Amino acid sequence: MSSGKTMHLNIITPDSTVYTGEVSFIVARTELGDLGILPRHANLVAALEIAPLRIDTTDGKKTYLANFGGFLEIKDNSVTIVTPNCELPEDIDVERAKRAKARAEERLHSKSADIDFDRARLALQRSLLRLDIKNKVG
Ligand code: ATP
Repeated sequence: MSSGKTMHLNIITPDSTVYTGEVSFIVARTELGDLGILPRHANLVAALEIAPLRIDTTDGKKTYLANFGGFLEIKDNSVTIVTPNCELPEDIDVERAKRAKARAEERLHSKSADIDFDRARLALQRSLLRLDIKNKVG
């Protein structure tokens, strides 16, 4: 049960529940910009971008996750994020992300008519997000 200073957060993907617990602050990037969420926020639904997701736990610890779109719902002090994928920093393989970045950049620089540029741009965005999240951990 949430106290007045916390809210419940659930992050759900098709594969698993990535996070469930009480948090004191969330920053999620929506289509309209960054949304800071404190406990007792008004009910709301928003579409999320491929971007960092900040969660502050009740012990004051700040964590950044790599979130790959989806939707956020705030209802009665409970926040639910339903997303195609969301990764905790410790689950991100830096070398794999670097390889994906190099592949995507190579495709974007290619002049070949066979390249799906939108797909390559999205792959680049995902790899940059993963590397950004790892950099935030330090
Ligand atoms: P890659 O080309 O390396 O597969 P991608 O961006 O195309 O990267 P996704 O389609 O976003 O990969 O993800 C496919 C699966 O692989 C997901 O389960 C995702 O969590 C995982 N994954 C992809 N890249 C990484 C990474 N760098 N570290 C950990 N897991 C990863």
